Amino acid sequence: MSYPDYSLRELIGFIKAFVDERNWHRFHTPSALALSAAIELGELLELFQWRSEEDVVDALADNKFKESLSQEIADVLIYLLRLTDVAGIDPSAAIIEKLKKNALKYPSKEWRGRAPNKTRTDR
Ligand SMILES: [Mg+2]
Repeated sequence: MSYPDYSLRELIGFIKAFVDERNWHRFHTPSALALSAAIELGELLELFQWRSEEDVVDALADNKFKESLSQEIADVLIYLLRLTDVAGIDPSAAIIEKLKKNALKYPSKEWRGRAPNKTRTDR
């Protein structure tokens, strides 16, 4: 199924409408949303558990696996977007600012083709 290319603001609006219709606001505290995002990320990781990189490539050719992955990605994103809304964070600004910070931390001239985690000495 194909959908329009919704903006983050529109998607947050759809999520908020879903919550409004069910009167679930009181359950959506920042910590509950952060925990829920982590739990859903665990479900996503479970799809990759015990699979080699080759197995994952094969699995991605399978529509059933891809549908499961798509649903878990959606679960994680929904909770994180909802968290940005509840916490008063602009997700576009947060991403752009973080990319700018990462660009300074990992200049492409120095880091092109190198994995940051392999040479990381500080946190
Ligand atoms: Mg899930």
